[in-house]
Amino acid sequence: MNRPFARVDAILTAFLYCLLLGACARPAAAAPHQAVTKRQLMMSTVIALTIYDPKSDAVFTEIFDRMADIERKMSVQKPDSEVSKVNAMAGKAPVVVSADTYAVMKRALTMSSLSGGAFDPTIGPIVDLWNVAGDNPHVATAKEIGNALPLVDWRQVETDDAARSIFLKKPGMKLDFGGIAKGFAADEAARIAKKDGVVSALFNMGDSSIYVMGSKPDGVPWRIGVQNPVSDENGEVIRDRYLGIFECSDADVETSGPYERFFMKDGKRYHHIMDPKTGMPADNGLIQVTLIMPNDVDLPDGLSTSCFVLGLQKGMKLIESLPGVGAVFVTADNKAYISSRAASKFSFSEGTGITLGKVRGEE
Ligand code: AMP
Ligand code: MG
Repeated sequence: MNRPFARVDAILTAFLYCLLLGACARPAAAAPHQAVTKRQLMMSTVIALTIYDPKSDAVFTEIFDRMADIERKMSVQKPDSEVSKVNAMAGKAPVVVSADTYAVMKRALTMSSLSGGAFDPTIGPIVDLWNVAGDNPHVATAKEIGNALPLVDWRQVETDDAARSIFLKKPGMKLDFGGIAKGFAADEAARIAKKDGVVSALFNMGDSSIYVMGSKPDGVPWRIGVQNPVSDENGEVIRDRYLGIFECSDADVETSGPYERFFMKDGKRYHHIMDPKTGMPADNGLIQVTLIMPNDVDLPDGLSTSCFVLGLQKGMKLIESLPGVGAVFVTADNKAYISSRAASKFSFSEGTGITLGKVRGEE
């Protein structure tokens, strides 16, 4: 089952919530600031840019053009993208790519190394096999997974800084930048906005990934609602509740969850975050991970995806080892675990069906 329009609606709804929450936080005598929001369907999602007091529309055009450029270079849905060319040459020869694609490749490999392989940009053959987000999703058989898994190995990616080339060593290997390209796009959006004099903006990158620049123009932190991950029998989350709210400035808040892209078969939900060890949708006891990362922390996107694959213990250990980074994990037994650096920024809401688990160190 694939309902892209329902998902787009959900993203828009989530975005509206986010603005409403922000509006509630504004003092009555706030100076009149103008928020302008523009949306575009790109990178298989709806991207919504809200900029306060933009000088003109030109900044939106420049950002969306840059995002389209990134998508053109890195989308596997586009057969002539650089990433598709690298994939087509797997096992044959290195492919010289743009500085952008090369940078994202390097960042993806950094995340693979950091996560001990839980994040793997060569997950492509497994993503294709399940086709979770496509028209004909499929429950992969053990045999199919067995054939595809040897092709998933980030250590078989050869990069050459001098030539700026990427080589996938085994024929059939396939890169998928679905878990990392949007983080790069958000960073680029912020760079362009900053150059244009923007100090206050919120970029909703779709798929529960939000990037905020500065604070709200009245100096109040942004308030970002985190979806309650409890699902109904159809695998759908209920969109009228928050697990809690992050208050933050200059930060990235991103969630990875099985309810974002999935299909149902025989009453079971199969989702889009794959475990590179098993070739199956990751099932390590979590139903959601939300990450908060200050913008000045130079880490690649993909950390929430990594933590979702790693599970609570290993994921929490990774988060606690990274200065500045915080996360909220929700386990399948409906308990939320808040990392030390998320605690001061996250207000947990009661009444969602999730209760607070014991924090690290208390167990
Ligand atoms: P996110 O929604 O940010 O967690 O990213 C999920 C997307 O990343 C998926 O739709 C795939 O395109 C890709 N992906 C899935 N599993 C992995 C993985 N283990 N490592 C890297 N990318 C992945
Ligand atoms: Mg992500």
